[in-house]
Amino acid sequence: MFSRRDFLINTALGGAASLIAPNTLWSATRPKKDKLGVALVGLGYYSTDLLAPALQLTKNCQLVGIVTGTPSKAEAWKKKYNLADKNIYNYQNFDQIANNPDIDIVYVVLPPSMHREFVVRAAKAGKQVFCEKPMAPSVADCQAMIKACADNKVKLAIGYRCQHDPNTQAFQKFAKESTFGKVRMVTCGAGYFDARTTHWKQNKALGGGVMGDMGVYALQGARLATGEEPISVTAQFHTTRPDIYKEVEETATFQLEFPSGALAACHTSFGINMNYLQANCEKGWFKMEPFSSYTGNKGSSPQGPINFPLENQQARQLDEDAEAIMKGTALLAPGEEGLHDIRVVEAVYKSVAAGGKLIKI
Ligand code: NAD
Repeated sequence: MFSRRDFLINTALGGAASLIAPNTLWSATRPKKDKLGVALVGLGYYSTDLLAPALQLTKNCQLVGIVTGTPSKAEAWKKKYNLADKNIYNYQNFDQIANNPDIDIVYVVLPPSMHREFVVRAAKAGKQVFCEKPMAPSVADCQAMIKACADNKVKLAIGYRCQHDPNTQAFQKFAKESTFGKVRMVTCGAGYFDARTTHWKQNKALGGGVMGDMGVYALQGARLATGEEPISVTAQFHTTRPDIYKEVEETATFQLEFPSGALAACHTSFGINMNYLQANCEKGWFKMEPFSSYTGNKGSSPQGPINFPLENQQARQLDEDAEAIMKGTALLAPGEEGLHDIRVVEAVYKSVAAGGKLIKI
């Protein structure tokens, strides 16, 4: 656990104040806590079913607060998680969280179009910020979120849970070390059948559309399996349910080219069940199925199976990000990582609008 003693040692080792990350100062100026306090903003599916239960398992942080627009949820969560009245906020009085020392981290788990507003408000309140993927609907939003956090000297972590999974890290290592020679071609699919018809995922103004939602998993798969950033994209959208997908795309396919010449063919859908990644290299291959589930990501390569145990992926993510805040070290998936993806997502939309034209990124 990070302590004042660690801070003094780090400071002494660092040698000069200029070498101390701003977030080290953030933790040093606060009373020592064994666990950082987290407030979840938006109590929908992901907060309710995954994040709140994971926060019961974490070592470096704990659920202490909520921000919700629904009074009945506030009451139920207060009872279930033994939350103090003073740690329960709504969207209107949220900014008062600045005066609440119980809450160190605000985790934004709202529809994507609301991420920017709540990340910026949390940063201005001086809180460390976690934000769900997709980071935001536009590059301009992402840049504003990164700037707000930098200006207020707080960290911004994006909820790319798979990056904390040792099975993802195993295939990233193949790319990094060219274990099977250079990665030449990645094929990746991320999708499920969404039976809902009027959810934010089908609503453009709220940040819906499969490309930002499941599409970032396929994109992450391609980026992590090559270890490179794409330089161009072509893309196509399809729908089999035009009555439901009136405003946004149901299925997207996109093709990426990377600086090394590696190629990726990515598929993502709200109508097709798929969760796989295959990388073909100069002298071998690796594959994962599933590659982006909450549990049980696994795969193989000519070296044998990839199947590392992981007790709870979200708890691992929350603990590692909280530790980075406590120690003032780098986050695994900071705001810039979300921005990388949204740059490509924007290019995908441009390509489709131009009839599938190749767009340089
Ligand atoms: P959800 O629809 O279940 O919950 C959204 C919450 O936002 C609800 O509590 C809703 O009341 C609230 N909300 C406030 N204003 C709203 C408005 N104007 N319209 C709609 N809802 C409003 O969504 P979710 O599945 O929990 O997704 C929330 C975020 O978490 C999204 O960014 C999503 O991509 C992300 N997510 C991530 C993962 C993951 O594996 N990392 C999984 C699921 C969802």
